Amino acid sequence: MKYWNKRLQQMTEYIPGEQPDNLNEFIKLNTNENPFPPSPAVLEALQKACNGDLRRYPNPNAQMVRELFAKKNSLTENNVFVANGSDEVFTLLFRGFIEPDGLAAFPYPSYALYYTMAEANGIAYDKITLDKNLDIPFDEFLKKKYNLVIIANPNNPTGKGVPIDQIKKFCAKFKGLLVADEAYVDFYNETALPLIKEFDNIIITRSFSKSYSLAGLRVGLAIAHKDIIQGLIKLKDSYNVDRIAQAGAYAALLDERGFNYNISMVRNNKEYLEEALASLGFESVPSKANFVFTKHPTVSAKLLYETLKENKILVRYFDGPIQSEYIRITVGTMMEIKRLITVLSEIIKG
Ligand code: PMP
Repeated sequence: MKYWNKRLQQMTEYIPGEQPDNLNEFIKLNTNENPFPPSPAVLEALQKACNGDLRRYPNPNAQMVRELFAKKNSLTENNVFVANGSDEVFTLLFRGFIEPDGLAAFPYPSYALYYTMAEANGIAYDKITLDKNLDIPFDEFLKKKYNLVIIANPNNPTGKGVPIDQIKKFCAKFKGLLVADEAYVDFYNETALPLIKEFDNIIITRSFSKSYSLAGLRVGLAIAHKDIIQGLIKLKDSYNVDRIAQAGAYAALLDERGFNYNISMVRNNKEYLEEALASLGFESVPSKANFVFTKHPTVSAKLLYETLKENKILVRYFDGPIQSEYIRITVGTMMEIKRLITVLSEIIKG
């Protein structure tokens, strides 16, 4: 730590969910990955991209991915930025879209990387606690002069969604930049994408890690007014998205059939998981995402997490107010869910 600067010494570390090396020994329901592999068309495109061209740098702006996403969503490429995972967008925003003495705000609980990345870049922030229904209290974000607000829609870890009308009303009143993190939007039916034509203070982020089954590839997007996209391009590393990632993301966007099939499978499994949990007496937050935030009236969340882990099932448990009452379970395959439910019912029986 001798050479760490003060900010690095003081910042809170982001702790990702466990990623065990011996993956086959575990049922892994802790990091909201997709339980199904990428579609055959995407795997084929990835294999094809492993060729001699790898000696060349990739397109610096992932132009083909930009253009295809723009075309599919009636936007122009100038509205689209391709990132090394949506996480990269948050870092860039803190680096270049807020003054050092500015103030950011994020809901709590939410995706903890917002807090970490703000601290890593020396940006002060407020955590705005969710209301008693675990909804985002938008009015609280108007009480101070916040320069940057990030909300996840649907939110992680609660799985709750915000209706787009509410985001629209907020954008109209808010003087700073609003980021709507739509990492889980494909499991939901509402997107704020149309708002970028109406407002220049909204940035939407998307991820290929969840609905496209490509968490290992690291691709995300930012969609916004062209001036914001130009700023992100100016700030980014020279070649932030590698050739293989660009090929995979492009193929994933093309393969609508594979995508729709995947989403419907995850939705079906989620319904099954929610019902099975309810039959064991669990109280779950109705989820708009690919995970379920749930608690049991008689067994603590920490004990559930620890005992599941002893049984080689990984779910997520977070310390801290509100969230420590719950575990967050990612939707798995049917076999994984059935095993989880068997173990949970044994734990509950004591
Ligand atoms: N946003 C939210 C709300 C998330 O939960 C996650 C993943 N845990 C991400 C963004 C990260 O997405 P990516 O893999 O594209 O960086």
